[in-house]
Amino acid sequence: MISKEYFSARYIVEDYKTVHKNSVLIVNGKYIENIVPIETITKDLSKINELGDVIISPGFTNAHSHVALNSVKGLGYGNASALYDVMWGIEPALDEDLVYKLSLLGMMDAISSGTTSINDHYFFADSVAKACEYIGIRGFIGHTIMTEYGPWTGKEQIKLAKSFNNNWKNHSTVHPIVAPHETSTVSPKELKELSNYALENNLLTHIHLAQTQKEMDYIKSNYDTSPIKHAFNLGILNEKVIAAHCNVVEDGDLELLAESKAFPIFCPTTHGIAGKPMNTNFLSELNVDWGIGTDCSGGNDDYDMLDEMRTALVLNNSVAKKDFIKPKEIFRKASEENIKRISGGNFSGNLSKNQKADFITISANSPRMQPLHDVVNNIVMCASSNEIKDVFIDGQCILKDSKFQLIDEQKVFEEGLEALNKLFTKTGFDKKIDNGDFS
Ligand SMILES: [Zn+2]
Repeated sequence: MISKEYFSARYIVEDYKTVHKNSVLIVNGKYIENIVPIETITKDLSKINELGDVIISPGFTNAHSHVALNSVKGLGYGNASALYDVMWGIEPALDEDLVYKLSLLGMMDAISSGTTSINDHYFFADSVAKACEYIGIRGFIGHTIMTEYGPWTGKEQIKLAKSFNNNWKNHSTVHPIVAPHETSTVSPKELKELSNYALENNLLTHIHLAQTQKEMDYIKSNYDTSPIKHAFNLGILNEKVIAAHCNVVEDGDLELLAESKAFPIFCPTTHGIAGKPMNTNFLSELNVDWGIGTDCSGGNDDYDMLDEMRTALVLNNSVAKKDFIKPKEIFRKASEENIKRISGGNFSGNLSKNQKADFITISANSPRMQPLHDVVNNIVMCASSNEIKDVFIDGQCILKDSKFQLIDEQKVFEEGLEALNKLFTKTGFDKKIDNGDFS
């Protein structure tokens, strides 16, 4: 029999505009049953789990990540191209075991900063999914497919992606997604085939789109158009497509993107560092509800959605001419819009009835959080990973008082560092770092 659990806290954020006081969150198995005033609980009072001076809040969804790509932390700021020289420099040496161990390291970072779901795009997706299952995070996971050039290419990758999708399709917390890498690394024929395959199998597609000048130049010289127009002309953009970046564009691209109803993902730190932010203001004018993701190291060296939410707000508003984005709107994107879109409408990302019980607690009484006049504004503008106390996913507690509950934290951390050393020795990156090649 599934037992009910009752959680009380100083505040319960049901969604970006609804905050309850003196209330209890009732969780029934994997689902939210209700939020009720505490005085209405009369018979099970002793069962209430008093979480203390915290805010119970929906967790955040990272709409574009590569959690195992934490390996190149700190190396993307020199003259070498972060993607082509740094990331692709180490990726040919990956294997199942390395991706599993590195994924867990990235997931520890994500969970500790309040992320309950990731939308992850990487090689050896099976290892990423197994890491999700072990640590307890919800994963929308795609196996990266490249057919033209890149660290891992060829038909074998398409086979692996399809068997990954079949093997994990009925899992409670791992949700497979089709993940062609990008318009220049996947041939038009295969882009179309993968798009059809996704639609036939009711899967979403997660792709990088218009992310580098190299992609723009390649598509221009081969197809005489821009990456977004190329994708649009191929008919592969639709409302079930998550398109990361969309920041290297030309006239008319963003209008077409809006028309296609694809979901563009702003990766504020990566974009800001490269000096090419996605034009979020123009997309908002076009009524496009864009999402937020961290991307990965080499561009952004952590998986902290609290950081990313604030950076998104600041970058957007720094070039806004009107209609400045407010913290509550950013909270809505990170908690609701991101997961609504990457789940194809199956999740709402708030704590309303019958939603999956994915929630976090945030300390309400730290110096960073006080004074607390507006709960949601303070979560976005003040909270840091230090304030994240507990994380529940699918009704299961995976972080309690900042301690991981399902994994041996110390062992995972040490094994992750060992995996990094192995990868760096295999690729000669250890010597390159000593030589200052990336600094
Ligand atoms: Zn990416």
